[in-house]
Amino acid sequence: MNTNLQTPIDYLKGVGPNRADLLRSELGIHTFQDLINLFPNRYLDRTKYYKINELQRNSSEVQIIGEIKGFKEVSQKRGKRLVAKFEDQTGTMELVWFKGHKWIRDSLKLNTTYVVFGKANWYNGVFSLPHPEIELLSEHEKNLRSSMQAIYPSTEKLSNKGISNRVLTNIMQSLFIETKGRFSETLSEDLISELKLLSKSDALFNIHFPKSQELLAKAEFRLKFEELFYIQLQLILKNLIHKSKIKGFVFDSVGSYFNSFYKDHLPFNLTNAQKRVLKEIRQDLGSNAQMNRLLQGDVGSGKTIVAFMSMLIALDNDFQACIMAPTEILSVQHYNSLYEWSKKLNISISLLTGSSNTSERRKIHESLENGELQILIGTHALLEDKVKFKNLGLAIIDEQHRFGVAQRSKLWKKNTSPPHILVMTATPIPRTLAMSVYGDLDISLIDELPPGRKSVKTVHRYDNNRLKVFRFIKDEIEKGRQVYVVYPLIQESESLDYKDLMDGYESISRDFPTPKYQISIVHGKMKAADKEFEMQRFVKGQTQIMVATTVIEVGVNVPNASVMIIESAERFGLSQLHQLRGRVGRGAEQSYCILMTSHKLSQDSKTRLETMTRTNDGFEIAEVDLRLRGPGDLMGTQQSGVLNLKIANIIKDKSILQNARFYAKRILDNDPSLGHPKNKTILDTYRKLSKYKNIWNYIS
Ligand code: ADP
Ligand code: MG
Repeated sequence: MNTNLQTPIDYLKGVGPNRADLLRSELGIHTFQDLINLFPNRYLDRTKYYKINELQRNSSEVQIIGEIKGFKEVSQKRGKRLVAKFEDQTGTMELVWFKGHKWIRDSLKLNTTYVVFGKANWYNGVFSLPHPEIELLSEHEKNLRSSMQAIYPSTEKLSNKGISNRVLTNIMQSLFIETKGRFSETLSEDLISELKLLSKSDALFNIHFPKSQELLAKAEFRLKFEELFYIQLQLILKNLIHKSKIKGFVFDSVGSYFNSFYKDHLPFNLTNAQKRVLKEIRQDLGSNAQMNRLLQGDVGSGKTIVAFMSMLIALDNDFQACIMAPTEILSVQHYNSLYEWSKKLNISISLLTGSSNTSERRKIHESLENGELQILIGTHALLEDKVKFKNLGLAIIDEQHRFGVAQRSKLWKKNTSPPHILVMTATPIPRTLAMSVYGDLDISLIDELPPGRKSVKTVHRYDNNRLKVFRFIKDEIEKGRQVYVVYPLIQESESLDYKDLMDGYESISRDFPTPKYQISIVHGKMKAADKEFEMQRFVKGQTQIMVATTVIEVGVNVPNASVMIIESAERFGLSQLHQLRGRVGRGAEQSYCILMTSHKLSQDSKTRLETMTRTNDGFEIAEVDLRLRGPGDLMGTQQSGVLNLKIANIIKDKSILQNARFYAKRILDNDPSLGHPKNKTILDTYRKLSKYKNIWNYIS
């Protein structure tokens, strides 16, 4: 192949400087290579022609043969539109243009047969095609039409500037002519023959100009496989390199702290899942590689005690340990649980947050550096430069999605040699996604809730049923329970949210008057100390109702709270709803979650509410969430370029992903350096990808 695919797009026939600029700014196409990787969104049957009387109100793109019988200009609010009367044997419709009237009138002939193509609208009893693609039937017949014509991604600006799908198709064609359709192979012969893949050239040809349905399917498979394969290769390599290069501290002894806690102070029997995960962690800590593990467990699955017992192993080996949590409230909560347990073992433990005062800080800094302080818990205050450990052996990060990856690496640097890292998340990430996003972490899963948990009963109620809901709350309070009422907090309209919250608070105060009822309120505009004070009143049972914004979303543990009311539930995402619901159902009592909404609900909101009332399973909920929002939106994954997939879809192509991971792993197991001649193509491609794409450095 002579044509260099790195050639700027300007040099391709049919692409002048103007078009090149547009392709760059609108579609990010800079080079021949970028163009070849502009994969179609879908395919349309261009061998099919509609009759005007066959048009349906919800038809998508249609292609019709007919004649223009006349033009008229119609005034509208802004400017005019040009309308052509278009006829075939079965009826009449309109072609409409909002721009370029003169040019269009001059170039189109009356009573001549044209083929028009576009999306049909139904308006005032007439079908119309706005800005149709239009060509003479005689011309149309000359161009080969396929039953599967590629439809490329486009933007409004592109179509306004005349870069229609047809123009893109022509440009693509000229790329294939220029390169003779020959492209270097990017997978090894072994893989191609074992998986019966199309060659790279055949795959690219058939993805853009499918010869048959079958070849299109094979082309898609080959390209998706390749895309996922190189991502998995990268992730596994990273993990391998990491394990061989980065020696971890070896915690080979499980000593008296761990054993005495296990024997004498365990507050409950561990679930089997907790035991299994602890074993996995112990193995990591005892090997001589640094641990980099993700601990996934639904809300309430009991991650805290696993974290604590892992810390005990570090302490048994004379190292320090820390937990970093995303909010002050969460840090305090961790501190409280761990403090109780540590007390019994005579372990020194401290809390460091933004509101720790100077003298507390000084004491912490000192005792941390001289090694007296064994466990430190806190917010990202832990990341400050002044916080220096004598020998940090294990760093635990709770609720990973609130922290960036950069922060993970910052913790690393707290030591001469990096501590073991355990990342805990309650966001149930479906395995497929976890594999793509956190493929460089080992994954442990707590897939079992502590015994005796009653699953939370969830119902959906409209706002006009509020009185009934209030009556229900009263009954629950009568029985000694506590209640959360949560309002949305969306950054963009913080003041509106604040107003909703305050209105809600007032109305609840009216219906639940003091002194019989006591109400706590917590929101983002309060000082940390005030928040803490209000939280504590609720935790201690001095208040029965907690009115709050989503600040309580993560981690708060009040087992006596049995009702969670979520106001404007249609404004929350699924994973958030699930997290919030996880605040109740922590005690022995039956708990309830009531989703309040207005009557105005989008289709997606309905699906979310239906999902919440149907299931308590975090993973099932996460799958639906992923389907509704797409992976790019899932919390914490935005910055990971891994999800900027060009052709594969990690939800729909789950099995291809698993396949790709299997083969990537097998190849690296046999040839970790990819030095074998038969893997040369893979090594070369991998190197090229790492050079041209930034997706490879998405993780520190
Ligand atoms: P999360 O995984 O959401 O952080 P926690 O660690 O806060 O969950 O645990 C939730 C609650 O369940 C806590 O009150 C904790 O003490 C309790 N718990 C954890 N593990 C068990 C167990 N094996 N048996 C009984 N209760 C448990
Ligand atoms: Mg927790």
